[in-house]
Amino acid sequence: MTRFHVIAIVTAIAGATAISLGSLLALGVIFAAFAMVMGFGVAFPQWRMFGPFICQGDSSQQRVALTFDDGPDPRSTSALLDLLRAENVPATFFCIGRHVAAHPELAARIAQDGHLLGNHTYTHSNATNFFGLARLTEEMSRTQSAMRDAAGVAPVYFRPPMGLSNPRVFKAASSLGLKVVGWTARGIDTQIRDSNRVVQRILRGVRPGAIILLHDGNIPPERLLPTVKLLLAKLRGQGYQFARLDHLIK
Ligand SMILES: [Zn+2]
Repeated sequence: MTRFHVIAIVTAIAGATAISLGSLLALGVIFAAFAMVMGFGVAFPQWRMFGPFICQGDSSQQRVALTFDDGPDPRSTSALLDLLRAENVPATFFCIGRHVAAHPELAARIAQDGHLLGNHTYTHSNATNFFGLARLTEEMSRTQSAMRDAAGVAPVYFRPPMGLSNPRVFKAASSLGLKVVGWTARGIDTQIRDSNRVVQRILRGVRPGAIILLHDGNIPPERLLPTVKLLLAKLRGQGYQFARLDHLIK
């Protein structure tokens, strides 16, 4: 039973009590509180409202996982892979399926370089959280196929666009054997242009086992690379090592 189920049952009992007492005001307050909590549950993976959202890895060691979303992007991904190779840092890439189909050689290189590929839907639609179960499942399975064709491996982790979720996301993912992943810390790097601010924001949320969210898609390399270089230096200065997501999660 998920938190969503528990809250729905409690809300139903409270609502029935309000109706039996004839209090429309109490019923309205209960409904508004339920809607607000659901809204936060949809928007914040860390609430784990609708299922087992993985937002943190093993905290027993001083390690973090760097994850890059929305690629592969020919503008940035190759340069990022060069940097990660030079720094000897393993990472995880939550790729958009249609980008993988458009640039299969980049997805192949991600895997060949020893990084982990993750599923981030096929189209990365802003309406993903409104999709029915069939469309959601198709988004995930088309991406699995594109990854298999490009890199010869199928992901085991799925991250929903913008981290938005609902019960259907978990149902579709589990039907394909995918685990749903969020993040511990993020820098809003596609919107904040100053690398220092992005890195400071991430460092505030970092702790052992942290899953760090960055982007290699829809971000120019002249912003991405300085951010990653600075982040690596700061985290190493704090004694952190880097692990792929599948090695960070127990
Ligand atoms: Zn995304």
